[in-house]
Order: sequence, then C-alpha cells, then structure tokens
Amino acid sequence: MNLRLQEIIAVDDLRELMLFFHEAAGISVGVMDEKQNWLVTIGWQHICTDFHRVNPTSRKNCLLSEQRISEYLNTKEYLSYPCPNGLVEVAIPILLHETLIGFFFLGQFLYQPPDIDYFRRQAIAYGYDVEAYLQALKKIPVVSKQRVDHLMRFFSLFFDLLTRLGAENQKRLHAESEIQKAKEELEVRVEERTRDLNRALLEVGDLAFQLNTSLQQIESLAVTDSLTNTYNRRKFDEVVAVEHGHGSSEKAPFSLIMLDIDYFKKVNDRFGHSAGDDVLKHLCHLIRGVIRQGDLLIRWGGEEFMLLLPTTEIAEAEHFAERIRVDVEAEKFSTVGHITISLGVAEFQKDDSVDALLKRVDNALYQAKQGGRNRVVKCVGG
Ligand code: GH3
Ligand code: MG
Ligand code: MG
Repeated sequence: MNLRLQEIIAVDDLRELMLFFHEAAGISVGVMDEKQNWLVTIGWQHICTDFHRVNPTSRKNCLLSEQRISEYLNTKEYLSYPCPNGLVEVAIPILLHETLIGFFFLGQFLYQPPDIDYFRRQAIAYGYDVEAYLQALKKIPVVSKQRVDHLMRFFSLFFDLLTRLGAENQKRLHAESEIQKAKEELEVRVEERTRDLNRALLEVGDLAFQLNTSLQQIESLAVTDSLTNTYNRRKFDEVVAVEHGHGSSEKAPFSLIMLDIDYFKKVNDRFGHSAGDDVLKHLCHLIRGVIRQGDLLIRWGGEEFMLLLPTTEIAEAEHFAERIRVDVEAEKFSTVGHITISLGVAEFQKDDSVDALLKRVDNALYQAKQGGRNRVVKCVGG
C-alpha cells in the first residue's frame, strides 16, 4: 500500500500545528508532498512573496532552489543551504518506511545579521524598491545554527512518529474496511445460498409431492382392475386379512357376496366382446351406486365379482344381494338389453379361515347357478 503524506496526516491539523510553531519560533515553515506540491506554508516573509518571487529572475532562483532541495534530499537526511537570493533554508525528507513521501522546510532566515550592502546590490540588480526591500530584510529572523539543528532534529523525530502513527492508523482503517467488505460479500453469498437452498427445497418438495402422487397412482393401479375400475384380488387379500383379524379378535361380523353374470358367454357371442366389456363396466357402475362406503367391490375374474361387506351379518348381506339382483334384472344395458346375475352369500364364522369362507361363498354361488340362476343363495350356517 503506497500511502501519500496527505493520506496519513490531516493537512488542516498539520497547518494549525505549524502555525503555532511559527508563532512560537518566528521562523517560516513549509511542508511539501513527494511531488513538490506545497501542503503547508506558514509565515512566508515579505522579502520572498513581495520581492524574490515577483521578479522573474529571482523567482527562477526560488524555484530552482526548491527543485535542488528535493533532488538532494533523496540521498541526504538533512540539508542546510543558502538560497540563491541570499537567505538560508534547511530541509529534511519526510519518510515512511524509508520511502520519501514529502519534505519539511524551515527557511527565509539568516544565521548571521545580514550584509546590507549585498542585499542593496541585489535590490538594484533586480529592480526592487531598495528602501522597501531593506525594510523587508529587517523582518528576517537571525537564528543560530545550533538552534536550527535542534529544531530540525526535533522535526525529524516528530515526522517519523507522525507518519508511523498515521500509517498504522491507515493500515487499521484499511483492514477494517476489508473486513467490512468481506462481511458484506459473505452476507450476499449467504443470502444467495439461502435463496438457492430454498429454491432447491421447494423443488425437492415438488418432486416429493410428484413422487408421492406417482406412488399413490402406482399403488392404486396395483390394486385396480383397469377395465371396470374396481379393485382386484390383491386389494381383497389386504382387506380380508384386516377384517379377518378384527373378526377373530373382536367378533366383528363381515360377509361376502360372490356374483356372476348368467350366460355371459352368450352375450359375448351375440353382441361381441366389446359390448360384453361395456356390460361389465355398466354392471360395476350400478353396484358401486348401491354399496356403502367401506364396502369393497372386487373383480374376482372374468365376469365374476366379490363384494366384501364389513360389519354385516348374513341376513343383511342376503337382503343386500337380493336388492342388487333385482336392480340388475331391472337395468337395461345398452346394446345388450337385460341380463341377470346369480349371487352366493356367506358370513365369516368364528375360527373361520379365509379359504374356508371363500369356499363357502363359492359353493353358495354354485348352488344359485344350479338352482336356475338369477337368484341369491346364502350359505347355510354362515
Ligand atoms: P354361467 O356363468 O351362467 O354358467 O354362464 P357363462 O357363459 O357366464 O359362464 P362361462 O364361465 O362359461 O363364461 C364366462 C364368459 O365370460 C367367458 C368369457 O368370454 C367371458 N368373459 C370373461 N372375461 C371377460 C371380459 O373381460 N370381457 C368380456 N367381454 N367377456 C369376458
Ligand atoms: Mg357367468
Ligand atoms: Mg363365470
């Protein structure tokens, strides 16, 4: 970090300080930056401002001397020299970690009382008003060399301390601003990450929802008959296991109705397979319209269906089967017209197995067929 003098020292404070010094010591004082711009000039003598710097030739001397000082001070620590216009100037470099960042001057004074003749000749040579010039000369302080040396040693240490403290302060400020910048960048990054994360979470949520929906669809497809949209045997197995468990432990009744379309082969033969499919769909729609919530309609196979009726005793199941039989008989199926169904009914018995129950209901259906079809037969004894 290359710091400039005016960056590490407040120039206004420095000017005030130099003003006090000038008032106390009566010597002109100046501070330049490393590019030879005056930052502070205090107590410039009239002899310089009104005479030396006004005439073009003596002005050139002033500037030449400023330039020489800065060149010379690149290698020296302390320079005392007579300016070409006859006054004394002393200067020290202001360094920061051995880098030149400015110059400090004391000047426009004399070590000895002035040689009046010399200055008179100079006034004539440059065309100054001689009397006014000699009046201005009177104001030039005479300072002993020893005093000047002490002052310059003091200022050397003073600037050394000042620049070091200033640079430390700048370093601290710089570090603080870097920390602040890093903090802000971090906050922005955290915000971005949080936004990304929230977006990702939303996406994951969406995906999870889609996955869940798909799973539900798959699960539902796995237990659904695609033609009639009723359940299949897999669902029956699930539910009957639960009902069987309830029935065994809590004596909760449940019944099965097995039904089969009468002479369905003939329907297909006469009206075609597609008309037969429509009958199957229509029949299921009709049965779904009369069963209770919780009752299960299962396509058992072909044109055979099973109804699982939880909390239903056989008398009620028989009654319900009869109602379905009557409804189907009364229904007019498109293309095909009227059909009939045969139904077998059985109720779960204590210590029953599912197989035994199925056998009984199948047997009841068989008897309904044997008995002339379009009828309900309940299994005697359950
Ligand atoms: P019954 O039950 O009265 O003894 O006579 P049925 O003619 O109905 O009996 P069977 O079991 O001999 O014939 C059942 C017919 O059901 C045979 C088959 O073509 C038909 N079937 C089975 N599944 C389907 C299906 O998904 N669609 C159609 N259209 N027909 C089916
Ligand atoms: Mg049949
Ligand atoms: Mg059949």
